[in-house]
Amino acid sequence: MRCAFCNEPAWYGCPLTGAFVCPRHARVQVVAWNAKREPEPSSVRAAGEQDYVRLQEVPLHFWGETGVECFDREYDVLKLPAFVGLKNDDVVGFVSYAVEGDTMNLVMLNVLPQYQGRGLGSAMLAKAVIEAHKLGLSRVVVATSNDDVSALYFYQRSGFVIEQVVPGRIAEHHGGLEQGFAGIPVRDEIRMQLFLDEAAL
Ligand SMILES: [Zn+2]
Repeated sequence: MRCAFCNEPAWYGCPLTGAFVCPRHARVQVVAWNAKREPEPSSVRAAGEQDYVRLQEVPLHFWGETGVECFDREYDVLKLPAFVGLKNDDVVGFVSYAVEGDTMNLVMLNVLPQYQGRGLGSAMLAKAVIEAHKLGLSRVVVATSNDDVSALYFYQRSGFVIEQVVPGRIAEHHGGLEQGFAGIPVRDEIRMQLFLDEAAL
């Protein structure tokens, strides 16, 4: 799935025009709370070894790689446990996590653009939070970038709060400024956290 305007990988589907777009060609629009599409039935389960062949196609689509740097660490999602989001038994999204001490780090969470906006991301996040609770951890953390308004929206709506901003961290990692969502320069790593005793399970 490519962007209708530049042929880069599409990250989002536009509910108004039906076009699939890359971050640079995406915009934010405010709508009434009940304007969202109804959640569609989907399932989420722990990833088994056999899922990683399909799972890896999701980060490769969005990022062109399976490695991630966040919280001053390097990860490869192919080496991490994950929950997969399924539509008709096919992997269309996933959340990978790493346990560091008393903390679960959500290293990557993505849903393919054709399957977004129907509650699958929230369902995968909920599974991860329940798992963190089962493991007796005290918090769940996630890092995003300053331009990623959709992630800032999603995680704050899900109870996360901003813990730390590391100015310039991502620009430094990229070796310069890249255009992110709607052309906003990607600069800062924004670290968010959810305390599990406050999470509604
Ligand atoms: Zn584009």
